[in-house]
Amino acid sequence: MNIYFDVDYTLIAMDGSLRPGAMEVFEGLIEEGHSIYIWSGVGMRTDDIERLGLSGFVSDIFVKPITEYEVGLERFSVSPRPDFVIDDHREIVEAFGGVHIEPYYFRSAEDGQMAELHQAIKDFVSTGNSNHRGFKPVPGKS
Ligand SMILES: [Mg+2]
Repeated sequence: MNIYFDVDYTLIAMDGSLRPGAMEVFEGLIEEGHSIYIWSGVGMRTDDIERLGLSGFVSDIFVKPITEYEVGLERFSVSPRPDFVIDDHREIVEAFGGVHIEPYYFRSAEDGQMAELHQAIKDFVSTGNSNHRGFKPVPGKS
């Protein structure tokens, strides 16, 4: 799948630190044959992804539409189309399908959301569904 990750409070906290388990999930998703994309509503986050050591896992980086999602894909030349979106904002996840993840505001070694996310993606790949509390199906499918 083409998996799109939001940046702020999805992958990083307010202080810019990487969410625990994020690197491991990225490694796993690549091994499983997925492609990882980064998008952010505040602009191109190429520098952050480089700083976090994630560039090698990421196929491309885009500006994320924050309204009028379908129009926004074209406006910001987002391609390929997202198959699975991970974001702390619910609306964009409902628009494309994926996991609405709990926001990661403050650095915390106890945050276990990334492992749960990885399981949700594996379940979705094998069954088309997930029992993750933040899972949203692709609109029009199931
Ligand atoms: Mg966010």
